[in-house]
Amino acid sequence: MAVLPIVITGEPVLHQRAAEVGTIDDALRRLVDDMLDTMAAAPGVGLAAPQVGVDARVFVYDYTDDDDVRWHGVAINPELLVSPPPLGEPDDVDDSEGCLSVPGERFPLRRSDRAVLRATDLEGVEYELEATGWVARIFQHEFDHLEGVLYVDRLAHPHSKAAAKAVRKRSWGVPGQSWLPGRDDLEG
Ligand code: ZN
Repeated sequence: MAVLPIVITGEPVLHQRAAEVGTIDDALRRLVDDMLDTMAAAPGVGLAAPQVGVDARVFVYDYTDDDDVRWHGVAINPELLVSPPPLGEPDDVDDSEGCLSVPGERFPLRRSDRAVLRATDLEGVEYELEATGWVARIFQHEFDHLEGVLYVDRLAHPHSKAAAKAVRKRSWGVPGQSWLPGRDDLEG
Protein backbone atom coordinates (compact mmCIF):
# COMPACT_ATOMS: atom_id res chain seq x y z
CA MET A 1 0.00 0.00 0.00
CA ALA A 2 1.51 3.26 -1.10
CA VAL A 3 0.66 6.67 -2.41
CA LEU A 4 2.13 7.07 -5.90
CA PRO A 5 3.22 10.24 -7.70
CA ILE A 6 0.60 11.48 -10.17
CA VAL A 7 1.97 12.50 -13.55
CA ILE A 8 1.01 15.85 -15.03
CA THR A 9 -0.20 16.71 -18.54
CA GLY A 10 2.68 16.47 -20.99
CA GLU A 11 3.76 13.03 -19.78
CA PRO A 12 3.47 10.78 -22.88
CA VAL A 13 1.62 7.95 -21.07
CA LEU A 14 -1.31 10.37 -20.55
CA HIS A 15 -1.62 11.09 -24.25
CA GLN A 16 -1.67 7.63 -25.81
CA ARG A 17 -4.14 4.75 -25.83
CA ALA A 18 -3.38 2.48 -22.85
CA ALA A 19 -2.63 -1.21 -23.29
CA GLU A 20 -5.16 -3.97 -22.54
CA VAL A 21 -4.61 -5.86 -19.29
CA GLY A 22 -3.67 -9.48 -19.97
CA THR A 23 -3.81 -11.32 -16.66
CA ILE A 24 -4.96 -10.30 -13.21
CA ASP A 25 -1.88 -11.05 -11.13
CA ASP A 26 -0.19 -9.85 -7.93
CA ALA A 27 1.43 -6.94 -9.74
CA LEU A 28 -1.98 -5.71 -10.91
CA ARG A 29 -3.51 -6.20 -7.45
CA ARG A 30 -0.67 -4.18 -5.94
CA LEU A 31 -1.10 -1.45 -8.56
CA VAL A 32 -4.84 -1.21 -7.81
CA ASP A 33 -4.17 -1.06 -4.03
CA ASP A 34 -1.73 1.78 -4.61
CA MET A 35 -4.13 3.55 -6.97
CA LEU A 36 -6.88 3.38 -4.30
CA ASP A 37 -4.46 4.85 -1.73
CA THR A 38 -3.37 7.54 -4.16
CA MET A 39 -6.96 8.46 -5.09
CA ALA A 40 -7.89 8.73 -1.39
CA ALA A 41 -4.82 10.85 -0.59
CA ALA A 42 -5.22 13.23 -3.55
CA PRO A 43 -8.21 13.33 -2.83
CA GLY A 44 -10.07 12.35 -5.98
CA VAL A 45 -13.19 10.51 -7.11
CA GLY A 46 -11.43 8.58 -9.87
CA LEU A 47 -7.92 7.67 -10.99
CA ALA A 48 -6.67 5.91 -14.11
CA ALA A 49 -3.46 3.85 -14.33
CA PRO A 50 -1.80 6.20 -16.87
CA GLN A 51 -2.05 8.94 -14.22
CA VAL A 52 0.41 7.00 -12.07
CA GLY A 53 2.58 6.38 -15.11
CA VAL A 54 1.32 2.87 -15.88
CA ASP A 55 0.28 1.96 -19.42
CA ALA A 56 -2.72 -0.24 -18.61
CA ARG A 57 -6.48 -0.11 -19.12
CA VAL A 58 -7.47 0.15 -15.45
CA PHE A 59 -9.23 2.82 -13.45
CA VAL A 60 -10.60 3.11 -9.93
CA TYR A 61 -13.48 5.24 -8.67
CA ASP A 62 -14.99 6.19 -5.33
CA TYR A 63 -17.92 8.56 -5.19
CA THR A 64 -20.97 8.86 -2.95
CA ASP A 65 -23.94 10.26 -4.87
CA ASP A 66 -26.79 12.51 -3.72
CA ASP A 67 -28.81 9.43 -2.68
CA ASP A 68 -25.93 8.29 -0.42
CA VAL A 69 -25.08 5.41 -2.75
CA ARG A 70 -21.35 4.72 -2.79
CA TRP A 71 -19.89 3.94 -6.22
CA HIS A 72 -16.59 2.29 -5.45
CA GLY A 73 -14.66 -0.11 -7.60
CA VAL A 74 -12.07 -1.13 -10.13
CA ALA A 75 -12.64 -1.22 -13.88
CA ILE A 76 -10.26 -3.44 -15.88
CA ASN A 77 -10.39 -3.35 -19.70
CA PRO A 78 -13.60 -1.29 -19.56
CA GLU A 79 -16.06 -0.52 -22.31
CA LEU A 80 -18.29 2.53 -22.07
CA LEU A 81 -21.57 3.27 -23.79
CA VAL A 82 -22.83 6.83 -23.49
CA SER A 83 -25.97 8.71 -24.42
CA PRO A 84 -25.52 11.63 -26.83
CA PRO A 85 -24.04 14.63 -24.99
CA PRO A 86 -26.48 17.48 -24.42
CA LEU A 87 -26.35 20.47 -26.71
CA GLY A 88 -25.53 23.97 -25.60
CA GLU A 89 -23.04 25.69 -23.39
CA PRO A 90 -21.66 24.01 -20.26
CA ASP A 91 -22.77 25.46 -16.93
CA ASP A 92 -19.86 27.17 -15.15
CA VAL A 93 -20.80 25.56 -11.81
CA ASP A 94 -22.70 22.34 -12.54
CA ASP A 95 -20.38 21.21 -15.35
CA SER A 96 -17.12 22.27 -13.68
CA GLU A 97 -14.64 19.41 -13.99
CA GLY A 98 -11.11 18.85 -12.73
CA CYS A 99 -8.31 16.32 -13.17
CA LEU A 100 -5.49 15.19 -10.89
CA SER A 101 -3.17 15.36 -13.91
CA VAL A 102 -4.06 19.04 -14.41
CA PRO A 103 -4.03 19.76 -10.67
CA GLY A 104 -5.68 22.80 -9.14
CA GLU A 105 -7.54 23.79 -12.32
CA ARG A 106 -11.23 23.40 -13.17
CA PHE A 107 -13.09 24.11 -16.39
CA PRO A 108 -16.68 23.48 -17.45
CA LEU A 109 -17.36 20.64 -19.87
CA ARG A 110 -20.62 19.16 -21.17
CA ARG A 111 -20.83 15.41 -20.63
CA SER A 112 -23.41 12.77 -21.45
CA ASP A 113 -26.01 12.32 -18.72
CA ARG A 114 -26.04 8.53 -18.90
CA ALA A 115 -23.28 5.95 -19.26
CA VAL A 116 -23.13 2.18 -19.12
CA LEU A 117 -19.83 0.80 -17.86
CA ARG A 118 -18.85 -2.79 -18.68
CA ALA A 119 -15.64 -3.94 -17.05
CA THR A 120 -13.85 -6.71 -15.20
CA ASP A 121 -13.15 -6.51 -11.47
CA LEU A 122 -10.05 -7.72 -9.58
CA GLU A 123 -11.59 -11.17 -9.14
CA GLY A 124 -11.90 -11.46 -12.91
CA VAL A 125 -15.69 -11.08 -12.79
CA GLU A 126 -17.33 -9.03 -15.51
CA TYR A 127 -19.88 -6.46 -14.38
CA GLU A 128 -22.09 -3.78 -15.82
CA LEU A 129 -23.18 -0.51 -14.18
CA GLU A 130 -25.61 2.06 -15.47
CA ALA A 131 -24.85 5.53 -14.17
CA THR A 132 -26.31 8.99 -14.50
CA GLY A 133 -25.19 12.47 -13.55
CA TRP A 134 -21.85 12.87 -11.82
CA VAL A 135 -21.07 9.14 -11.77
CA ALA A 136 -21.62 9.02 -15.54
CA ARG A 137 -19.22 11.95 -15.79
CA ILE A 138 -16.58 10.17 -13.70
CA PHE A 139 -16.81 7.09 -15.90
CA GLN A 140 -16.44 9.21 -19.05
CA HIS A 141 -13.49 11.11 -17.58
CA GLU A 142 -11.64 7.98 -16.48
CA PHE A 143 -12.42 6.05 -19.66
CA ASP A 144 -11.05 8.98 -21.65
CA HIS A 145 -7.76 8.62 -19.76
CA LEU A 146 -7.42 5.10 -21.15
CA GLU A 147 -7.91 6.53 -24.66
CA GLY A 148 -5.18 9.12 -24.08
CA VAL A 149 -7.69 11.97 -23.80
CA LEU A 150 -7.73 14.54 -21.00
CA TYR A 151 -10.85 16.57 -20.24
CA VAL A 152 -8.98 19.73 -21.20
CA ASP A 153 -8.65 18.25 -24.72
CA ARG A 154 -12.46 18.28 -24.97
CA LEU A 155 -13.13 21.83 -23.82
CA ALA A 156 -15.01 24.25 -26.04
CA HIS A 157 -14.04 27.84 -26.71
CA PRO A 158 -13.28 29.94 -24.67
CA HIS A 159 -12.45 27.36 -21.98
CA SER A 160 -10.01 25.50 -24.23
CA LYS A 161 -7.98 28.68 -24.58
CA ALA A 162 -8.05 29.35 -20.83
CA ALA A 163 -6.90 25.80 -20.11
CA ALA A 164 -4.03 26.00 -22.61
CA LYS A 165 -2.97 29.27 -21.01
CA ALA A 166 -3.07 27.74 -17.51
CA VAL A 167 -0.94 24.79 -18.66
CA ARG A 168 1.61 27.14 -20.26
CA LYS A 169 1.69 29.39 -17.20
CA ARG A 170 2.54 26.45 -14.95
CA SER A 171 5.16 25.19 -17.43
CA TRP A 172 3.27 21.93 -17.89
CA GLY A 173 2.70 20.19 -21.21
CA VAL A 174 6.19 18.68 -21.24
CA PRO A 175 7.30 15.24 -19.98
CA GLY A 176 8.75 14.51 -16.56
CA GLN A 177 6.44 16.34 -14.17
CA SER A 178 4.49 14.83 -11.30
CA TRP A 179 3.16 15.62 -7.85
CA LEU A 180 2.82 13.51 -4.73
CA PRO A 181 -0.50 13.67 -2.81
CA GLY A 182 0.15 14.45 0.84
CA ARG A 183 3.47 16.13 0.08
CA ASP A 184 2.83 18.67 -2.67
CA ASP A 185 -0.01 21.15 -2.50
CA LEU A 186 -0.86 22.12 -6.05
CA GLU A 187 -4.33 23.45 -5.33
CA GLY A 188 -3.14 27.04 -4.99
ZN1 ZN B 1 -8.28 12.96 -14.88
